[in-house]
Amino acid sequence: MEKKFNQPLGGNDMTRAGGPATMMRLPTQKNAAGLDACFVGIPLDIGTSNRVGARHAPRSIRAESCMIRPYNMGTGAAPFDNIQVADIGDIPINTYSLLKSIDIIEQKFDEILQHNCIPLTLGGDHTVTLPILRAIAKKHGPVGLVHVDAHTDVNDEMFGEKIAHGTTFRRAIEEGLINGNRVVQIGVRGSGYAAEDFDWGRKQGFRVVQAEECWHKSLTPLMEEVRQQVGNGPVYISFDIDGLDPAYAPGTGTVEIGGLTTIQALEIVRGCQGLDIVGGDLVEVSPPYDTSGNTSLIGANFLFEMLCVLPGVLSEKHP
Ligand code: MN
Ligand code: MN
Repeated sequence: MEKKFNQPLGGNDMTRAGGPATMMRLPTQKNAAGLDACFVGIPLDIGTSNRVGARHAPRSIRAESCMIRPYNMGTGAAPFDNIQVADIGDIPINTYSLLKSIDIIEQKFDEILQHNCIPLTLGGDHTVTLPILRAIAKKHGPVGLVHVDAHTDVNDEMFGEKIAHGTTFRRAIEEGLINGNRVVQIGVRGSGYAAEDFDWGRKQGFRVVQAEECWHKSLTPLMEEVRQQVGNGPVYISFDIDGLDPAYAPGTGTVEIGGLTTIQALEIVRGCQGLDIVGGDLVEVSPPYDTSGNTSLIGANFLFEMLCVLPGVLSEKHP
């Protein structure tokens, strides 16, 4: 039967090892016109503080997305039956200037949002979320945030710089891009500079869920509370791959042990179903440190899972 919306290229039409490496082997287009959702890459890593390499992630995530089939057998979601999706390529950042790059990103996301298209971003380091949220807040006002990460990313400055991958969510609060009472950070852990390191966000109203609170548990009950906290307003999902344990996702820049399992992260993203999601990103995959390709592969799958919980995507099973 002829399908109404763009479909990923099937594994029986072209071997999964072949064809152009677009996200999920979807068609490409130059801009977001006519799309309900798009995949867009940001090949930027000049905001990182330790290992670099995230600039290579959009291409690598696309390559590793070649196995993902159109139906979500876990949730019953069938995104390509319900909404129009394409891969709109990469943002042409300036690889010598972080400040110029974030202006370019904001302007390109303004364009995407003008088309009423929901962006799902293939990062890039976590700096990219700031200009995305700047564009999103212009359209939707301050949004709620589901933030998966080993780090809170609320430093005031890094090496004296206000813009870096570890300052994103402090700037987002200061600029009124996110509503502190509608923010949850899940998976934070590791060593710090002071015992109060995770408390700045709590003072802004964030719910900060440390990794230790997640150990050995299903996160489905947590997500019930998160949905209550976040409520009916617009929500953004920001998924730093280092929220996962390095046993699953070693290919990243700032590794912390004792992280989330892939199953717990599935419970988080699937637990966002029913929220008014206005955008999402998957950041901090660093292919040079990802010798098996698994980190990119996991990243690709979580971007698919985000697609599966967007408004307008019907699902047989609800959380
Ligand atoms: Mn992180
Ligand atoms: Mn981060």
